[in-house]
Amino acid sequence: MAGLYLHIPFCRKACTYCDFHFSTSLDRRPALLDAMHRELAERASELEGPLGTIYFGGGTPSLLEPAEIEAFLEQARQLFGVDDDAEVTLEANPDDITPERLAQWKELGITRLSLGTQSFREDRLTWMGRAHNAEQALRSIDLIAAAGFRTWTIDLIYGLPNMTLAEWDEQLTIALDRGMPHLSAYCLTVEPRTALAHQVSKRLVTMPGDDAQSAQFDRLMERMEQAGLVHYEISNFGLPGHFSRHNTSYWEGVPYLGIGPSAHSYDGRRRRWNVANNARYIAALLEGTPYGEEEFLTPAQRTNELLLTGLRTIAGVRIEQLELDALALNRKAAEAHMQRGHLLVKDGRLVLSRAGRHFADRIASDLFVTDDDRRDQP
Ligand code: SF4
Repeated sequence: MAGLYLHIPFCRKACTYCDFHFSTSLDRRPALLDAMHRELAERASELEGPLGTIYFGGGTPSLLEPAEIEAFLEQARQLFGVDDDAEVTLEANPDDITPERLAQWKELGITRLSLGTQSFREDRLTWMGRAHNAEQALRSIDLIAAAGFRTWTIDLIYGLPNMTLAEWDEQLTIALDRGMPHLSAYCLTVEPRTALAHQVSKRLVTMPGDDAQSAQFDRLMERMEQAGLVHYEISNFGLPGHFSRHNTSYWEGVPYLGIGPSAHSYDGRRRRWNVANNARYIAALLEGTPYGEEEFLTPAQRTNELLLTGLRTIAGVRIEQLELDALALNRKAAEAHMQRGHLLVKDGRLVLSRAGRHFADRIASDLFVTDDDRRDQP
């Protein structure tokens, strides 16, 4: 079933490592939200309802007033219809969590809360430039756990400078002790044009080596397995019944419509991305001028996309689904990864072993094909 993504491009503070599109100035918020409603109405014909998932991402969607969230949900119902059992996710930051807000979001039909915790340690949160403190991180989880959402999840970051396995273990224990049903754990990466990239280039920060990050990833897998959380995507772990349906749809190539500045859309053939600039987005929607670009994916691009996203998941890639025979075209590379025990063929699917999950992107790119390969397809 189709999915709708709404990008809310505002944050209270800029986190040092973040390269998502957002603005810390809320001046344009009413105009921006109007423009998003306009875009949604304009592009409704691109998606067939009813919606199976709706995802408020960002940015910081928990900055919105409940009435603003409700307006989007109402418009989505009118334009597409929303499945009775739909998953409706709201990303929230700990500094926005109060018992009243949680009750309001639940009342509106939010079924899944995704909390941007990142760390439970004061020094780490300060270093990351987060808007919340450690006490808020802990308290917000307790409140969410008691609020009765269908499910909830938190984000944590590992691979931080000087992070020890003991520190990472402690973070995971705190989350597990609070009954966390789902975790998205991301290894810190230095993205270009972020404050972190600047600090690294000035040698103010030294990033840890691959070995430390790799050991933390191993510990993460061990701890989640012990706790019964399934490693269903490289960065995602969930108890059965608590996997993110919206994100799973992305990985399976299900069509989705992305609304708002910088949002991406995909309909199975065409990928579209909106301008990552609030002022230009608003102006274009008012003037009726273009605010996005698009490309039709070639068979090779669709094949590579499936490899890149599918290999990151527990289900892997259905070999039959690949339009170009990536295995035959890259026989040597595929065999090398299989001999190392990193890549397996199981029930007609290409999947990574546990050891192979350390190299997911590298293995996928070794199997990439080009449109020229079509001539050579066996
Ligand atoms: S709150 Fe999230 S989107 Fe906003 S700057 Fe921090 S990491 Fe980026």
